[in-house]
Amino acid sequence: MSSPRPRLKIRQISKNIIWEEQTQASGFYFRVKKWLHREQSPFQRIEVIENETYGRVLMLDGLVQTTEADEFFYHEMLVQPALHCHPEPKRVLIIGGGDGGALKEVLKHPVEKVILVEIDERVVEVARKFFPWLEPCLKDGRAEIVFADGSNYIEATKEKFDIILIDSSDPVGPSEILHRQEFFSKLKKIMRPRGIVAAQSGSAFFHRELIREKRRFFEDMFRYAHFYLGPVPTYPGGLWAYIFLSDRINPLRGPAKEIIPGLKYYSRAIHRAAFALPPFL
Ligand code: SAM
Repeated sequence: MSSPRPRLKIRQISKNIIWEEQTQASGFYFRVKKWLHREQSPFQRIEVIENETYGRVLMLDGLVQTTEADEFFYHEMLVQPALHCHPEPKRVLIIGGGDGGALKEVLKHPVEKVILVEIDERVVEVARKFFPWLEPCLKDGRAEIVFADGSNYIEATKEKFDIILIDSSDPVGPSEILHRQEFFSKLKKIMRPRGIVAAQSGSAFFHRELIREKRRFFEDMFRYAHFYLGPVPTYPGGLWAYIFLSDRINPLRGPAKEIIPGLKYYSRAIHRAAFALPPFL
């Protein structure tokens, strides 16, 4: 698989403006109200700033991962389609997702157990300090955090899951492995029969070649392999892609149950719309 164009790094262009380059010629700037955190962990550079519009913004190696104001677009769309299509999800695995946003969405459902496997302990510690949703999740007896490489964990575990969520960063650095075909083939052996995998799949605009390549191998591996889309205001291109994979559950049939109350983006109508792909993809 050829490597995609990653998002380019954030540059500080003046004392209080940072610029996330998305191509050599365009990007996204944040005015920094306050620098809240900066560290180099063994895996990546972790930074948090405060911005007037987006609130707290988490960046890893200079790439925006989540913001307080727009996190719900991404986290609901990564998690809620799979959790609503499965009639009875009990055991859930999250790979990556150390900021806790996906975990918060899963715990809104009556699941028995959620295991989150994050490679970098420092991401969880920093997110716990700066993002309000993580602490209550860590206190929830159904949640377990494991610090390990997601790919190694999948090879070693004897458990099987109803839902597996891949909340990885872009396909550079430690996340690169989480975008490979070999990684997805390994997932099959830890899925229960009605199991579903949902994975973030990058920018619908900037990573469209990678999406086309992934479609080819996913269609060989799973009976149902459908990309779906949702907006994320602070992600490159604004329109984000996700993949839904299952051998038993067809997402085009829609949610298998009532939509849980209190969501801000996902709904029955959004589910239907999200799986309609534009011709350019
Ligand atoms: N929504 C985000 C995005 O695309 O901008 C991704 C969020 S989440 C913060 C991604 C997490 O995956 C990071 O905390 C990173 O440390 C973790 N990660 C990267 N490679 C990993 C691996 N091989 N195993 C487990 N976690 C990994």
